Amino acid sequence: MHTMDNFNFKGHKALIRVDLNVPLDAQFNVTDDNRTRAIVPTVKKILKDGGSAILMSHLGRPKGKVNPAMSLKPIAKHLEGLLGVPVQFAMDCIGPDAQSKAAGLKPGEVLLLENLRFHPEEEAGDEAFSKSLSLLGDVYVNDAFGTAHRAHASTTVVAKYFPEDKLFGYLVAGELSSIGKVLEDPQKPLCAIVGGAKVSSKIDVLKNLLGKCDEVIIGGGMAFTFIKAQGGKIGSSLVEEDHLDTAKAILAEAQDKGVMLHLPVDAIVADAFTDNANTDLCAANAIPEGWMGLDIGPESIKQFSTVVKRAKTILWNGPMGVFEMRSFQAGTKAIAEAVADATKYGAFSLVGGGDSVAAVNQFGLAERISYVSTGGGAMLEYLEGKELPGIAAVRA
Ligand code: AMP
Repeated sequence: MHTMDNFNFKGHKALIRVDLNVPLDAQFNVTDDNRTRAIVPTVKKILKDGGSAILMSHLGRPKGKVNPAMSLKPIAKHLEGLLGVPVQFAMDCIGPDAQSKAAGLKPGEVLLLENLRFHPEEEAGDEAFSKSLSLLGDVYVNDAFGTAHRAHASTTVVAKYFPEDKLFGYLVAGELSSIGKVLEDPQKPLCAIVGGAKVSSKIDVLKNLLGKCDEVIIGGGMAFTFIKAQGGKIGSSLVEEDHLDTAKAILAEAQDKGVMLHLPVDAIVADAFTDNANTDLCAANAIPEGWMGLDIGPESIKQFSTVVKRAKTILWNGPMGVFEMRSFQAGTKAIAEAVADATKYGAFSLVGGGDSVAAVNQFGLAERISYVSTGGGAMLEYLEGKELPGIAAVRA
């Protein structure tokens, strides 16, 4: 299989699926350029080899219709700043303008195509549309991990028109190698920290991880369904009554498999779901009526941190509490710090799948984590043990 490092792009026109779905302000300035910066190594390597780059992406949810507010045109200027070369723009991702601009590209030049999702065929994975895209380049590079779980035209279907010449960009390759270090070939002990609001959205993740982990920490709102399933009193904390049996089954499976499963022993409770509610500290299984657990307490922080620090591989998905509110962020912050400390002492840490990524960024700890994933939904599906269509299409 080709890799970025063993493929020489000299004289090639690389059609690259990137993720330029970035937030823009009212003047169309990019307000968070993490995603745009993430594609730079791939594009630069192609240009340095003497190839040219045709970038395709979606932006927002135009639902198959042209919507000028979701044009990728403003991103071309932004990319010019990052890449240090002019970036041409095609007014549509297929059709005569895209074709003539792609055909005219010289080595070292970059073309950005208009928003793929202006066409309903993109999300439908339409064959003819995929073929039209494929005609623009002679090698396909998938560097958009965030959309790899979607079987869309540009992320999956187009790959089949490049039976030989298709590969992952540096960003996707980095994601895959990080996930591999956790799910396929982890240094033991492997500890997973799973949090967030709902058990229902993490059942498949938990089931898959139970077969691989030595220790599993469960925090966040979802912990209360487990605590209730064990007979605890959880007041008005978040609970999914219809998943009490699921929680029991997961607890039983952990025991069967010899996985140490850790739940919070104490909680910061509040009398309302607001930052300035009255708060108290109590045992996580003895929360009075009218109070809800919105963060893990200091004893849980201590226990969880000990578990994290003895791990050699750490996977973290989902916050320990309502970290968006200052009063309930201490648990998530402390666990983020424990993960960063363990990393400093040689553990491999991967944070991925949504809000925990936002949390490590918010606390300024991203630099101290081995790998922070760019793909929320894609990472979650990978952790569930599913094969992502965009990944499978390039490997096929
Ligand atoms: P998820 O998308 O399932 O990972 O859930 C993330 C959300 O869970 C965040 O917005 C948190 O505020 C929320 N959350 C974490 N802990 C709690 C809790 N104890 N009660 C209610 N919501 C929580």
